[in-house]
Amino acid sequence: MENNINLKDIIKGTNFRFNKALGQNFISDKNLLDAIVADSGIVEGDTVVEIGTGGGTLTRSIAKVAKKVYSFEVDRNLEPVLALSLQGLDNVEVVFKDVLRMKDAQFEEIVSGEFKVVANLPYYITTPLVMRFLESNLKVKSLTVMVQKEVADRLTAQPDTPDYAAITLAVQMIGSAKITRNVSRNMFYPAPNVDSAVVRIDIDRTKLAGEDVVLLRKLARSAFMMRRKTLANNLSQAFGITKAEATEKIVAAGFAEMVRGEVLSLDDYVKLSHEFKA
Ligand code: SAM
Repeated sequence: MENNINLKDIIKGTNFRFNKALGQNFISDKNLLDAIVADSGIVEGDTVVEIGTGGGTLTRSIAKVAKKVYSFEVDRNLEPVLALSLQGLDNVEVVFKDVLRMKDAQFEEIVSGEFKVVANLPYYITTPLVMRFLESNLKVKSLTVMVQKEVADRLTAQPDTPDYAAITLAVQMIGSAKITRNVSRNMFYPAPNVDSAVVRIDIDRTKLAGEDVVLLRKLARSAFMMRRKTLANNLSQAFGITKAEATEKIVAAGFAEMVRGEVLSLDDYVKLSHEFKA
């Protein structure tokens, strides 16, 4: 089945009204959609989860390659649009549910086994959505997601740069991320007021084998709580210890008393976590 449906005509014909609050900025350019799918590295035989079916255009491009697509969409008003745009595809299941409100068990009742995520994310909830998959025990192998350019920069940042954040470390703890392409706001319909980028995160659950990942996550989150504060200040507050106790652990791990969380790498946080465990 070819991919050249005319989304704008379908939307006009069904009287669908865009809901800005749900981050509804759709893509209809077939070359871009196919390029996102190519970036994701999905192959025949893969199960893919899409978050935000929208008009179903990315869904169609994914379905040409993957074995099965589970596409989650919160807005039931899209039903008539999708009835037309996904016509003829027998490997797509649209699930009308809010992905953020689903527990892992509910999710696994629908999607069993390993899967890859490919999505043009609703921007108002990008961070919780990415974290939801990174920090769950769901069998996700990779996430290829269109996000705001600023978020893409945070997901792929280096230590001691303005974009380096708790979410950068959350990604590094479980895999590696790279920007595969930048996308102009003019590629969306309606156009948002920010530019975007596609980020691919490959998951490697063995990366921190033997380490206390729960503690590491807490350390990383706490370190960025107040960016202008020293690490000792942030950690004493988050862990309910005195500043002197926090400083002692920081120094024992090999860092300066006044160090800020934003200059430490993942390896540095691993060293610090050993002191907190001790
Ligand atoms: N995949 C389509 C595309 O590329 O054109 C649509 C992308 S649009 C940026 C994001 C979609 O996510 C919207 O259709 C919106 O209704 C849906 N959405 C928003 N919040 C959601 C949630 N919590 N769970 C599932 N879908 C959601």
